[in-house]
Amino acid sequence: AAKETGEPYRHWSPALDERAGEHARLGAELQAALQAGHFVVVYQPIVALPGGRVAAVEALVRWRHPQRGLISPAQFIPVAEQSGLIVELGAWILRTACEQMAGWRAELGPAAPDRVSVNVSARQLARPQFPGAVADILRDTGLPPRCLTVEVTETAVFGGGQAVQALHQLRALGVRIALDDFGTGHSSLGLLQTVPVDVLKVDKSFVDRVTEAGRHAVIARALIQVSDGLGLTAVAEGVETAEQAEALYDLGYRLLQGYLYGRPSAAPDFGAARPPGSDA
Ligand code: C2E
Ligand code: CA
Ligand code: CA
Ligand code: CA
Repeated sequence: AAKETGEPYRHWSPALDERAGEHARLGAELQAALQAGHFVVVYQPIVALPGGRVAAVEALVRWRHPQRGLISPAQFIPVAEQSGLIVELGAWILRTACEQMAGWRAELGPAAPDRVSVNVSARQLARPQFPGAVADILRDTGLPPRCLTVEVTETAVFGGGQAVQALHQLRALGVRIALDDFGTGHSSLGLLQTVPVDVLKVDKSFVDRVTEAGRHAVIARALIQVSDGLGLTAVAEGVETAEQAEALYDLGYRLLQGYLYGRPSAAPDFGAARPPGSDA
């Protein structure tokens, strides 16, 4: 159409410019927010059944915006990834989570969770400096490497290359590797042949319908079998109801994470699990 009118791109280019401008603005805001200390890390329990001990916590970032309140990572992580700020932000998140975990260990002793799990984006993992940066953070914070799990998505490691190399290096340090949102990618099972992995985080989409007699329950069953068969640890994500927890337990899942056990919080409760159904 642009060619026909002789006015190239007139119809869409202003909109694109606007979107690009919005993106650039948000990117600059993120940079300033990091400098100003406006990000916080919250922690969600991962509980071990039976008993409900908090075996681990997942670190999740939040943006505490002075005007707009708490902003979800879904809204700014993609922008930070695109602008490259995720490298700096991600390093801050990792350091903060490791410091916090070391603090809990010092403070709580055996009542502290065994490990903290930190999300790492493709962009961070692709940098050859990443494993060294993790080693520095572990050394600085005094956190034993076995107390850290790095969560990566299937897409981040799909291409192989540097990302997979990084996972081998992290593993050599003693850090655990978790595959996040497992089962939602294009080659979930194929990856297990080539990528060093310790933990499979079975995606919420399977957990949501695990109580129904449909294909989701069949897949949830298959995934725990793969996990057990390969000697991996499975974590079921997004568990919201006691019925889901019971169905997962019956399938063989022993590590569960979700609102049923606790929302992400700056100060999670490491006492015994609440009775099913009570609010976090
Ligand atoms: P994710 O890594 O899959 O994290 C799990 C998300 O599910 C979290 O959302 C968590 O709050 C939410 N969730 C946990 N249990 C339940 C439940 O029972 N029901 C429901 N409806 N949701 C539940 P959150 O914190 O908003 O994070 C969204 C995504 O943003 C994360 O998905 C992750 O991909 C990304 N993200 C969060 N923090 C970080 C970070 O520090 N670094 C990076 N690179 N990405 C992050
Ligand atoms: Ca995760
Ligand atoms: Ca996930
Ligand atoms: Ca997810």
